[in-house]
Amino acid sequence: MVEFLPPPSLHIIIGLVNKLFIGLAGECKEVAMEWTRSLHIIRDDFHGSHFPGQSCQILLGNVDSLMLLVRTQTKTAIVFKYANALRNLKKVADGCFRRILADDLKESVDKFKSSYIKTGLPITSKAHVTFTHLVEFTGTTKESLLQYTEEAHESIHQEFKKTWSKHSLRDVQHPKY
Ligand SMILES: [Zn+2]
Repeated sequence: MVEFLPPPSLHIIIGLVNKLFIGLAGECKEVAMEWTRSLHIIRDDFHGSHFPGQSCQILLGNVDSLMLLVRTQTKTAIVFKYANALRNLKKVADGCFRRILADDLKESVDKFKSSYIKTGLPITSKAHVTFTHLVEFTGTTKESLLQYTEEAHESIHQEFKKTWSKHSLRDVQHPKY
């Protein structure tokens, strides 16, 4: 039944933005800090707190400014990995949350997947759901996920949580992405 349940839309994207940011901050803390400072996004504690949806949207919309902050050659390669994954994640988010579902969503997801893997971050449940179940689901409904935002469809969201908690247990080391 998984293919008939919508991915829990926005909080997956929010989780992935946070995951990528934590990865970036882990490898290149100054750049990560400077980037958020330049965008006037404040996060008190790197490990405990998370960026909420609105901040994630700002981060995704300002990936170019992240690249501009890089000053040394080694850091360029590191920051580029994350910038690329974030840029591709934005394409995925735009592809499924606009009014009309993008017809190249699968390409965007595949691009995001390979760029995410290049960061070396673990394939979390949220990453797996995005790589696999997002296209499965939208391929069935042919509709954008705009109508499934948490606010509008709390019941569907609750329903998904059951699927979700199964994944959380199972996908720690998911055998195939
Ligand atoms: Zn799965």
